[in-house]
Amino acid sequence: MCKALYAAEAVKLVNEKAHVKLYHSTCHTCMHGLFYYVVQSEGGVSAVGLVTDAAGDDALRLANSKVVTADECISTHRIVSNQSQDLCQNLLDIREKLA
Ligand SMILES: [Zn+2]
Repeated sequence: MCKALYAAEAVKLVNEKAHVKLYHSTCHTCMHGLFYYVVQSEGGVSAVGLVTDAAGDDALRLANSKVVTADECISTHRIVSNQSQDLCQNLLDIREKLA
């Protein structure tokens, strides 16, 4: 995000399967987290990065949690779409309580 260089000790291996590794690191400058998949194949090595607000401990917990299914995503989308007014009001109520 801020283009700072990551220290080697800030990069943690979260999960590893055959030819695929998931790493997480936290930038010491802006404190953003980053997940990156590194895939090794016969054609070489490729990597995909994803910015996250997950900290290192969250990364380990998420890597071992149950996978969200497509049906659960669709169900959540429908609930949010059909009840968006109630959802927004609840979020505003929570925000007022936290202020
Ligand atoms: Zn940064």
